[in-house]
Amino acid sequence: MAKTGNKNIQAKLVLLGDMGTGKTSLVLRFVKGQFYEYQESTIGAAFFTQVLSLNEATIKFDIWDTAGQERYHSLAPMYYRGAAAAVVVYDITSMDSFERAKKWVRELQRQGNPNLVTVLVANKADLESKERCRMRAELIGEQYAKDNRLLFFETSAKSAQNVNELFYEIDHKNGEEE
Ligand code: GDP
Ligand code: MG
Repeated sequence: MAKTGNKNIQAKLVLLGDMGTGKTSLVLRFVKGQFYEYQESTIGAAFFTQVLSLNEATIKFDIWDTAGQERYHSLAPMYYRGAAAAVVVYDITSMDSFERAKKWVRELQRQGNPNLVTVLVANKADLESKERCRMRAELIGEQYAKDNRLLFFETSAKSAQNVNELFYEIDHKNGEEE
């Protein structure tokens, strides 16, 4: 090896979760540094790449952003199979979206590979609502993540809170697996 200390990592990453939870917004915040109030719904799935250079390492993320609607459910395995990491997103103001996130986690546990890094993300942290208060007060997401050995982040694609941290942590975990 001519160059020591250099590493080039490629990581396939998939975003899962209910429609409207902010999956596309999180990716666009990370990839473009932007946020759109009127983000159009994803149809099927969208593909993004992002290259990060950290110290001597270059990481190329191949990001599959899925649609979330029930009618596309059968396509999901195509995206999470072979993925290094799955990001399961719920909306902190919607208990329904949290229930849906748990379904995704169970599906990943059943069918995904055991090395898949799974991250539970509570998005829209900039919003206030009764459901949010309850979920936060009872640490519902945090506890579920702990019980299921998931990483957990509370994010806001709007304010950018924790978005880079989320993707950097995935890279970090990904490195550990190798
Ligand atoms: P997806 O269906 O999961 O991809 O969700 P989108 O990214 O399309 O977002 C759905 C809606 O929620 C859009 O109107 C976004 O502008 C909005 N949204 C996404 N993330 C956030 C967030 O962190 N905070 C707020 N307030 N709105 C968000
Ligand atoms: Mg979308």
